[in-house]
Amino acid sequence: MAKISFYGGVGTVTGSKYLLENNGRKVLVDCGLFQGLKELRERNWQDPPFNPQDLDAVIITHAHIDHTGFLPRLVKLGFSGKVFTSRATCDLLKILLPDSGRLQEEDAEYRNRKNLTSHSPALPLYDEDDAMATLELLNPVPNDGNAVEVCEGFQASFNVAGHILGASLVLVEMENARENSESVKFLFSGDLGHYDQPILKDPAIPSDCDYLMVESTYGDRLHGEVSSDDQLADIINEAAKRNAPILIPAFAVGRTQEVLYLIRELEEQKRIPVLPVIVDSPMAAQATQVYNRFSEEHDEEYASILAHKKHPLRTGSMRTASTREESKRLNDEKGARIIISASGMLTGGRVLHHAMRMLPDPKATIVFVGYQAAGTTGRRVQDGEREVRIMKNWIPVNCRIAKVEGFSAHADWKAVLRWLEGLKVTPKMVFTTHGEPEAAEAMAGHIRERFGWNVVVPQYEQTIELV
Ligand SMILES: [Zn+2]
Repeated sequence: MAKISFYGGVGTVTGSKYLLENNGRKVLVDCGLFQGLKELRERNWQDPPFNPQDLDAVIITHAHIDHTGFLPRLVKLGFSGKVFTSRATCDLLKILLPDSGRLQEEDAEYRNRKNLTSHSPALPLYDEDDAMATLELLNPVPNDGNAVEVCEGFQASFNVAGHILGASLVLVEMENARENSESVKFLFSGDLGHYDQPILKDPAIPSDCDYLMVESTYGDRLHGEVSSDDQLADIINEAAKRNAPILIPAFAVGRTQEVLYLIRELEEQKRIPVLPVIVDSPMAAQATQVYNRFSEEHDEEYASILAHKKHPLRTGSMRTASTREESKRLNDEKGARIIISASGMLTGGRVLHHAMRMLPDPKATIVFVGYQAAGTTGRRVQDGEREVRIMKNWIPVNCRIAKVEGFSAHADWKAVLRWLEGLKVTPKMVFTTHGEPEAAEAMAGHIRERFGWNVVVPQYEQTIELV
């Protein structure tokens, strides 16, 4: 009999890991790192509740680290099967996983230096070599709804989820899963994109299924009707008038591309002057190239810009700083300019050097375009703290602080309901996952109220039989 176990992405938005079992075969869907609170991060160090060597295959819905960052650990612990995911996700993982390996190494080194460890020496969760070994196992599949066999008795089809490039809804069909030898179909929403966002296609219509798992990041919130273009245009025009710099901390994959797309549009509509735009993140530059490579995932507008041989992610005066030296040289430049750099929450990366120079400058503006998690330097600046600690220095915050709302890669609960309306057959059971506990409960409530379906909010390490 088929069953599913929830080993992450429940009670939290991180650590997504769902184990499907049928007829002795085991397939893991997503393999994410727990992030945020210490008690969650500690789970990354516990042995998984299944033997990685026993897994027949892994399926990945999209490249974000909270869905993929545990993969190299799985490989370090002996997993050697295939990892099935969309072609674009494979290319993004080639950028993200080695970087994650380097971050793990730096983290271990830091704990050793600071004596923050009871193990001596502290070892990384995994290193860059483990990440490279993981890339060898990737098995790219088209994101077009056609089924592939992931192991004996398990078929999977991937279709556009519209969340970031390469993100997929995944339908898994387990053969011979019931007493009458019928199959069980399980649809995973992965992270579901918002409708009508730039660059990517809208989420594909959900296929009929027996069981359905849907994300609930915004299960208790709506995005509202704010226009990010107006807000960003005002900020840029003001800075241009004052001949002052702008710093935009942004995640390298997804958010940086959305910001570039918007700035180019505003320039073309002559709503802002063409200012120098500097992308100071080698990862972001590589991710931008991947974004242009996968035309099958682009929405019509993006495709038509590309068809006119224009570059949708290139503003009028844009440069990329690849080397550290180029990045440092940016410090000597003066006047109005826009620097986009990672990380998006000021927790590390090149953006810190820019923040150290810009935060004390009353003329400069720092613009937040993404969620700032509790405890991060970005959150402290956004909350109006007058001084923040960056790389052991106390930095006064005198600059202007702006926030652009409206960027989100996640469907809010109304958009999730809109997506669910596409189902023609009532699923036997729906699971709401990938949300804080209140959000997952709220999403379950919205679905029950709207459709009257059987909705379950699963608990960590729970196993449910799929009859
Ligand atoms: Zn995601």
